[in-house]
Amino acid sequence: MFSPQELSEITKLLTPDHNIVITTHHNPDGDAVGSSLGLYHFLKTKGIEATVLTPNDFPKFLKWMPDAKKIVISEYKRKIAGEALYNADVVFCLDYNATARAGVIGEWVRKSHAKKILIDHHQMPENFDYVYSDTSVPATCQMVYHFIEALGEENAVNQDIAECLYTGIMTDTGGFRFRSTSATTHRIVANLIEKGADPAKITSNTWDNNTISRLNLLSLVLGRIEVVKDGKVAILWLKREELKSLGFEKGDTEGFVNYGLSIAGTKMAAFFMEDLYEDFIKISFRSKDDVDTNQFARKYFNGGGHINASGGKYLKNIEDTIEDFKNIIEKEDF
Ligand code: 5GP
Ligand code: MN
Repeated sequence: MFSPQELSEITKLLTPDHNIVITTHHNPDGDAVGSSLGLYHFLKTKGIEATVLTPNDFPKFLKWMPDAKKIVISEYKRKIAGEALYNADVVFCLDYNATARAGVIGEWVRKSHAKKILIDHHQMPENFDYVYSDTSVPATCQMVYHFIEALGEENAVNQDIAECLYTGIMTDTGGFRFRSTSATTHRIVANLIEKGADPAKITSNTWDNNTISRLNLLSLVLGRIEVVKDGKVAILWLKREELKSLGFEKGDTEGFVNYGLSIAGTKMAAFFMEDLYEDFIKISFRSKDDVDTNQFARKYFNGGGHINASGGKYLKNIEDTIEDFKNIIEKEDF
Protein backbone atom coordinates (compact mmCIF):
# COMPACT_ATOMS: atom_id res chain seq x y z
CA MET A 1 0.00 0.00 0.00
CA PHE A 2 1.06 3.63 -0.38
CA SER A 3 2.70 5.11 2.72
CA PRO A 4 0.63 7.43 4.98
CA GLN A 5 2.60 10.37 3.57
CA GLU A 6 1.83 9.29 0.00
CA LEU A 7 -1.84 8.74 0.86
CA SER A 8 -2.11 12.24 2.23
CA GLU A 9 -0.47 13.65 -0.92
CA ILE A 10 -2.79 11.59 -3.12
CA THR A 11 -5.82 12.76 -1.11
CA LYS A 12 -4.87 16.35 -1.92
CA LEU A 13 -4.71 15.49 -5.62
CA LEU A 14 -8.16 13.88 -5.68
CA THR A 15 -10.32 16.98 -5.92
CA PRO A 16 -12.84 18.17 -8.54
CA ASP A 17 -10.54 20.98 -9.69
CA HIS A 18 -7.91 18.52 -10.92
CA ASN A 19 -8.14 16.75 -14.27
CA ILE A 20 -7.99 13.07 -13.47
CA VAL A 21 -7.46 10.41 -16.12
CA ILE A 22 -7.68 6.67 -15.54
CA THR A 23 -5.73 4.42 -17.92
CA THR A 24 -5.28 0.70 -18.33
CA HIS A 25 -3.55 -1.86 -20.55
CA HIS A 26 -3.95 -2.80 -24.22
CA ASN A 27 -6.63 -5.44 -24.87
CA PRO A 28 -8.40 -4.66 -21.59
CA ASP A 29 -9.80 -7.62 -19.68
CA GLY A 30 -12.33 -7.79 -16.83
CA ASP A 31 -9.80 -6.63 -14.26
CA ALA A 32 -8.61 -3.73 -16.41
CA VAL A 33 -12.12 -2.46 -17.17
CA GLY A 34 -13.45 -3.32 -13.69
CA SER A 35 -10.67 -1.52 -11.83
CA SER A 36 -10.88 1.51 -14.13
CA LEU A 37 -14.66 1.86 -13.82
CA GLY A 38 -14.59 0.95 -10.12
CA LEU A 39 -12.15 3.78 -9.46
CA TYR A 40 -14.16 6.08 -11.77
CA HIS A 41 -17.31 5.46 -9.72
CA PHE A 42 -15.40 5.96 -6.48
CA LEU A 43 -14.06 9.33 -7.66
CA LYS A 44 -17.59 10.24 -8.67
CA THR A 45 -18.65 9.93 -5.02
CA LYS A 46 -16.11 12.70 -4.34
CA GLY A 47 -17.62 14.93 -7.01
CA ILE A 48 -14.88 14.12 -9.52
CA GLU A 49 -15.70 13.32 -13.13
CA ALA A 50 -12.60 11.40 -14.23
CA THR A 51 -11.90 10.38 -17.82
CA VAL A 52 -11.41 6.64 -18.38
CA LEU A 53 -9.18 5.75 -21.33
CA THR A 54 -8.56 2.30 -22.75
CA PRO A 55 -5.92 1.93 -25.47
CA ASN A 56 -8.22 -0.17 -27.66
CA ASP A 57 -11.65 -1.73 -27.61
CA PHE A 58 -12.71 -4.28 -24.99
CA PRO A 59 -14.93 -7.38 -25.23
CA LYS A 60 -18.71 -7.06 -25.51
CA PHE A 61 -19.19 -9.20 -22.40
CA LEU A 62 -17.77 -6.31 -20.33
CA LYS A 63 -19.96 -3.61 -21.83
CA TRP A 64 -22.80 -4.15 -19.36
CA MET A 65 -20.74 -2.58 -16.58
CA PRO A 66 -22.12 0.68 -15.18
CA ASP A 67 -20.96 3.61 -17.35
CA ALA A 68 -18.90 1.37 -19.66
CA LYS A 69 -20.24 3.60 -22.45
CA LYS A 70 -18.34 6.57 -21.02
CA ILE A 71 -14.99 4.89 -21.58
CA VAL A 72 -12.97 6.63 -24.27
CA ILE A 73 -11.50 3.98 -26.58
CA SER A 74 -8.33 5.78 -27.54
CA GLU A 75 -7.73 3.89 -30.79
CA TYR A 76 -11.04 5.30 -32.10
CA LYS A 77 -10.83 8.69 -30.41
CA ARG A 78 -7.16 9.61 -30.48
CA LYS A 79 -7.71 13.35 -30.29
CA ILE A 80 -9.91 13.20 -27.20
CA ALA A 81 -7.56 10.71 -25.51
CA GLY A 82 -4.46 12.73 -26.37
CA GLU A 83 -5.99 15.95 -25.09
CA ALA A 84 -7.21 14.31 -21.90
CA LEU A 85 -3.69 13.09 -21.14
CA TYR A 86 -2.11 16.39 -22.19
CA ASN A 87 -4.38 18.29 -19.78
CA ALA A 88 -4.23 15.74 -16.97
CA ASP A 89 -3.04 16.67 -13.49
CA VAL A 90 -3.28 13.09 -12.27
CA VAL A 91 -3.05 9.86 -14.26
CA PHE A 92 -3.97 6.53 -12.69
CA CYS A 93 -2.24 3.56 -14.28
CA LEU A 94 -4.26 0.46 -13.46
CA ASP A 95 -3.48 -3.21 -14.08
CA TYR A 96 -0.25 -2.58 -16.01
CA ASN A 97 3.35 -2.30 -14.92
CA ALA A 98 5.00 -0.55 -17.85
CA THR A 99 3.81 2.16 -20.25
CA ALA A 100 4.72 -0.10 -23.19
CA ARG A 101 1.72 -2.23 -22.11
CA ALA A 102 -0.67 0.68 -22.65
CA GLY A 103 -0.74 0.49 -26.47
CA VAL A 104 -1.52 3.74 -28.29
CA ILE A 105 -1.64 5.79 -25.08
CA GLY A 106 1.58 4.38 -23.57
CA GLU A 107 3.85 7.04 -25.02
CA TRP A 108 1.48 9.86 -23.98
CA VAL A 109 1.30 8.51 -20.44
CA ARG A 110 5.09 8.26 -20.30
CA LYS A 111 5.56 11.86 -21.49
CA SER A 112 2.76 13.34 -19.40
CA HIS A 113 3.70 15.83 -16.69
CA ALA A 114 0.80 14.70 -14.53
CA LYS A 115 1.35 12.90 -11.24
CA LYS A 116 1.22 9.21 -12.13
CA ILE A 117 -0.28 6.76 -9.70
CA LEU A 118 0.27 3.05 -10.33
CA ILE A 119 -1.98 0.38 -8.86
CA ASP A 120 -1.02 -3.00 -10.27
CA HIS A 121 -0.25 -6.64 -9.54
CA HIS A 122 2.21 -7.52 -12.33
CA GLN A 123 5.89 -8.30 -11.78
CA MET A 124 8.59 -5.63 -12.05
CA PRO A 125 6.77 -2.28 -12.22
CA GLU A 126 8.44 0.72 -13.83
CA ASN A 127 8.90 3.95 -11.90
CA PHE A 128 5.82 6.10 -11.35
CA ASP A 129 5.29 9.00 -8.92
CA TYR A 130 3.28 6.77 -6.61
CA VAL A 131 3.55 2.99 -6.80
CA TYR A 132 1.23 0.47 -5.17
CA SER A 133 2.44 -2.83 -6.62
CA ASP A 134 1.72 -6.21 -5.07
CA THR A 135 2.12 -9.39 -7.08
CA SER A 136 0.49 -11.47 -4.35
CA VAL A 137 -2.93 -9.89 -4.91
CA PRO A 138 -4.99 -11.74 -7.53
CA ALA A 139 -6.66 -8.70 -9.10
CA THR A 140 -6.08 -4.97 -9.47
CA CYS A 141 -9.76 -4.62 -8.52
CA GLN A 142 -8.91 -5.99 -5.08
CA MET A 143 -6.09 -3.42 -4.83
CA VAL A 144 -8.48 -0.60 -5.74
CA TYR A 145 -10.67 -1.78 -2.86
CA HIS A 146 -7.62 -1.74 -0.52
CA PHE A 147 -6.82 1.75 -1.80
CA ILE A 148 -10.36 2.97 -1.01
CA GLU A 149 -10.04 1.36 2.46
CA ALA A 150 -6.66 3.03 3.02
CA LEU A 151 -8.23 6.39 2.20
CA GLY A 152 -10.77 5.64 4.94
CA GLU A 153 -13.58 5.73 2.38
CA GLU A 154 -14.94 2.19 2.58
CA ASN A 155 -18.38 3.59 3.32
CA ALA A 156 -18.39 5.30 -0.05
CA VAL A 157 -18.48 1.93 -1.84
CA ASN A 158 -21.83 1.84 -3.64
CA GLN A 159 -23.46 -0.64 -5.98
CA ASP A 160 -21.70 0.69 -9.11
CA ILE A 161 -18.26 0.43 -7.51
CA ALA A 162 -19.11 -2.98 -6.06
CA GLU A 163 -20.27 -4.43 -9.41
CA CYS A 164 -17.15 -3.24 -11.22
CA LEU A 165 -14.69 -4.46 -8.59
CA TYR A 166 -16.50 -7.78 -8.19
CA THR A 167 -16.26 -8.39 -11.95
CA GLY A 168 -12.50 -7.89 -12.08
CA ILE A 169 -11.85 -10.05 -9.04
CA MET A 170 -14.08 -12.76 -10.50
CA THR A 171 -12.43 -12.75 -13.94
CA ASP A 172 -8.80 -12.42 -12.79
CA THR A 173 -9.18 -15.26 -10.28
CA GLY A 174 -10.93 -17.45 -12.88
CA GLY A 175 -14.02 -17.50 -10.68
CA PHE A 176 -12.22 -17.42 -7.29
CA ARG A 177 -10.05 -20.43 -8.19
CA PHE A 178 -6.52 -19.27 -8.95
CA ARG A 179 -3.68 -19.55 -6.49
CA SER A 180 -3.55 -16.05 -5.04
CA THR A 181 -7.29 -16.07 -4.22
CA SER A 182 -7.16 -15.55 -0.45
CA ALA A 183 -9.40 -15.25 2.57
CA THR A 184 -8.95 -11.49 2.21
CA THR A 185 -10.18 -11.73 -1.38
CA HIS A 186 -13.31 -13.52 -0.17
CA ARG A 187 -13.87 -11.02 2.65
CA ILE A 188 -13.73 -8.17 0.15
CA VAL A 189 -16.03 -10.04 -2.22
CA ALA A 190 -18.46 -10.54 0.68
CA ASN A 191 -18.39 -6.78 1.33
CA LEU A 192 -18.98 -6.10 -2.36
CA ILE A 193 -22.02 -8.39 -2.33
CA GLU A 194 -23.35 -6.51 0.69
CA LYS A 195 -22.87 -3.26 -1.20
CA GLY A 196 -25.03 -4.54 -4.05
CA ALA A 197 -22.90 -6.70 -6.36
CA ASP A 198 -25.14 -9.60 -7.40
CA PRO A 199 -23.01 -12.71 -8.12
CA ALA A 200 -25.64 -14.39 -10.31
CA LYS A 201 -26.22 -11.28 -12.41
CA ILE A 202 -22.52 -10.52 -12.83
CA THR A 203 -21.60 -14.10 -13.68
CA SER A 204 -24.38 -14.35 -16.20
CA ASN A 205 -23.62 -10.97 -17.81
CA THR A 206 -19.94 -11.79 -18.08
CA TRP A 207 -19.73 -15.50 -18.71
CA ASP A 208 -23.10 -16.57 -20.09
CA ASN A 209 -22.77 -14.07 -22.85
CA ASN A 210 -20.96 -16.17 -25.42
CA THR A 211 -21.06 -15.40 -29.11
CA ILE A 212 -21.61 -18.27 -31.56
CA SER A 213 -18.26 -17.39 -33.09
CA ARG A 214 -16.58 -18.00 -29.73
CA LEU A 215 -18.10 -21.45 -29.38
CA ASN A 216 -17.18 -22.38 -32.96
CA LEU A 217 -13.61 -21.23 -32.42
CA LEU A 218 -13.46 -23.13 -29.14
CA SER A 219 -14.71 -26.27 -30.82
CA LEU A 220 -11.97 -25.96 -33.46
CA VAL A 221 -9.25 -25.35 -30.89
CA LEU A 222 -10.30 -28.18 -28.57
CA GLY A 223 -10.57 -30.60 -31.48
CA ARG A 224 -6.85 -30.39 -32.18
CA ILE A 225 -5.27 -29.68 -28.81
CA GLU A 226 -1.76 -31.13 -28.67
CA VAL A 227 0.03 -32.39 -25.57
CA VAL A 228 3.84 -32.58 -25.53
CA LYS A 229 6.73 -33.00 -23.07
CA ASP A 230 5.36 -36.23 -21.57
CA GLY A 231 1.90 -34.78 -21.12
CA LYS A 232 3.12 -31.74 -19.22
CA VAL A 233 2.52 -29.07 -21.84
CA ALA A 234 -0.64 -28.44 -23.86
CA ILE A 235 -0.59 -26.45 -27.08
CA LEU A 236 -3.57 -24.68 -28.67
CA TRP A 237 -3.55 -22.45 -31.73
CA LEU A 238 -5.65 -20.45 -34.18
CA LYS A 239 -4.79 -18.98 -37.56
CA ARG A 240 -5.97 -15.66 -38.95
CA GLU A 241 -8.03 -17.29 -41.71
CA GLU A 242 -9.85 -19.41 -39.14
CA LEU A 243 -10.58 -16.37 -37.01
CA LYS A 244 -11.95 -14.59 -40.04
CA SER A 245 -14.01 -17.46 -41.41
CA LEU A 246 -15.63 -18.17 -38.04
CA GLY A 247 -16.46 -14.51 -37.46
CA PHE A 248 -14.03 -13.70 -34.62
CA GLU A 249 -15.05 -10.83 -32.35
CA LYS A 250 -12.90 -9.19 -29.70
CA GLY A 251 -12.73 -11.30 -26.55
CA ASP A 252 -13.87 -14.51 -28.28
CA THR A 253 -10.71 -16.40 -27.38
CA GLU A 254 -10.47 -15.15 -23.78
CA GLY A 255 -9.78 -18.10 -21.47
CA PHE A 256 -9.17 -20.69 -24.22
CA VAL A 257 -5.69 -21.34 -22.86
CA ASN A 258 -7.17 -22.56 -19.56
CA TYR A 259 -8.65 -25.61 -21.29
CA GLY A 260 -5.09 -26.76 -21.93
CA LEU A 261 -4.31 -26.53 -18.26
CA SER A 262 -7.47 -28.42 -17.32
CA ILE A 263 -6.00 -31.64 -18.75
CA ALA A 264 -4.81 -33.94 -15.95
CA GLY A 265 -1.04 -33.90 -15.61
CA THR A 266 -0.39 -30.68 -17.50
CA LYS A 267 1.90 -28.11 -15.90
CA MET A 268 1.73 -25.50 -18.60
CA ALA A 269 -0.51 -24.49 -21.49
CA ALA A 270 0.26 -22.19 -24.39
CA PHE A 271 -2.21 -20.66 -26.82
CA PHE A 272 -0.87 -19.22 -30.07
CA MET A 273 -2.94 -16.90 -32.20
CA GLU A 274 -2.09 -15.06 -35.40
CA ASP A 275 -2.86 -11.37 -35.13
CA LEU A 276 -5.72 -10.32 -37.42
CA TYR A 277 -3.83 -7.46 -39.02
CA GLU A 278 -0.14 -7.62 -38.21
CA ASP A 279 2.44 -10.32 -38.76
CA PHE A 280 3.09 -11.45 -35.24
CA ILE A 281 1.84 -14.25 -33.04
CA LYS A 282 0.15 -13.38 -29.75
CA ILE A 283 0.77 -16.02 -27.12
CA SER A 284 -0.92 -16.74 -23.80
CA PHE A 285 0.79 -18.90 -21.19
CA ARG A 286 -0.77 -20.48 -18.12
CA SER A 287 0.83 -22.79 -15.57
CA LYS A 288 0.26 -24.72 -12.38
CA ASP A 289 2.20 -24.53 -9.12
CA ASP A 290 5.65 -23.00 -9.34
CA VAL A 291 6.18 -23.23 -13.09
CA ASP A 292 7.05 -19.58 -13.76
CA THR A 293 5.50 -18.41 -17.02
CA ASN A 294 6.42 -14.78 -16.31
CA GLN A 295 10.15 -15.59 -16.49
CA PHE A 296 9.51 -17.88 -19.43
CA ALA A 297 7.59 -15.25 -21.42
CA ARG A 298 10.19 -12.60 -20.63
CA LYS A 299 13.10 -14.81 -21.58
CA TYR A 300 11.82 -16.29 -24.83
CA PHE A 301 8.68 -14.51 -26.04
CA ASN A 302 9.05 -10.75 -25.48
CA GLY A 303 6.41 -10.72 -22.79
CA GLY A 304 5.70 -11.12 -19.11
CA GLY A 305 2.83 -11.06 -16.64
CA HIS A 306 2.37 -13.21 -13.55
CA ILE A 307 3.93 -16.48 -12.44
CA ASN A 308 0.92 -18.59 -13.49
CA ALA A 309 -0.47 -16.35 -16.25
CA SER A 310 1.51 -14.39 -18.78
CA GLY A 311 1.67 -13.51 -22.42
CA GLY A 312 4.02 -12.51 -25.17
CA LYS A 313 4.56 -11.85 -28.85
CA TYR A 314 6.68 -13.60 -31.49
CA LEU A 315 7.66 -12.38 -34.90
CA LYS A 316 7.77 -15.66 -36.84
CA ASN A 317 4.91 -17.46 -38.58
CA ILE A 318 2.70 -19.69 -36.45
CA GLU A 319 4.26 -23.01 -37.50
CA ASP A 320 7.80 -21.81 -36.73
CA THR A 321 6.65 -20.18 -33.48
CA ILE A 322 5.15 -23.42 -32.23
CA GLU A 323 8.22 -25.34 -33.41
CA ASP A 324 10.51 -22.96 -31.50
CA PHE A 325 8.26 -23.23 -28.46
CA LYS A 326 8.44 -27.03 -28.52
CA ASN A 327 12.24 -26.96 -28.74
CA ILE A 328 12.47 -24.46 -25.90
CA ILE A 329 10.22 -26.33 -23.47
CA GLU A 330 12.05 -29.60 -24.04
CA LYS A 331 15.07 -27.87 -22.52
CA GLU A 332 13.14 -26.31 -19.62
CA ASP A 333 13.20 -28.19 -16.37
CA PHE A 334 9.70 -28.90 -15.06
P1 5GP B 1 -3.49 -12.99 -21.47
O1 5GP B 1 -2.90 -14.33 -21.78
O2 5GP B 1 -4.81 -13.13 -20.76
O3 5GP B 1 -3.50 -12.07 -22.63
O4 5GP B 1 -2.52 -12.32 -20.43
C1 5GP B 1 -2.18 -12.93 -19.23
C2 5GP B 1 -1.34 -11.99 -18.40
O5 5GP B 1 -0.10 -11.73 -19.03
C3 5GP B 1 -2.00 -10.66 -18.19
O6 5GP B 1 -1.80 -10.31 -16.84
C4 5GP B 1 -1.28 -9.72 -19.09
O7 5GP B 1 -1.17 -8.46 -18.53
C5 5GP B 1 0.08 -10.36 -19.27
N1 5GP B 1 0.52 -10.21 -20.66
C6 5GP B 1 -0.13 -10.64 -21.75
N2 5GP B 1 0.55 -10.34 -22.88
C7 5GP B 1 1.66 -9.69 -22.48
C8 5GP B 1 2.77 -9.12 -23.19
O8 5GP B 1 2.87 -9.13 -24.42
N3 5GP B 1 3.73 -8.52 -22.42
C9 5GP B 1 3.66 -8.49 -21.06
N4 5GP B 1 4.66 -7.90 -20.39
N5 5GP B 1 2.63 -9.01 -20.38
C10 5GP B 1 1.64 -9.61 -21.07
MN1 MN C 1 -5.20 -7.98 -13.58
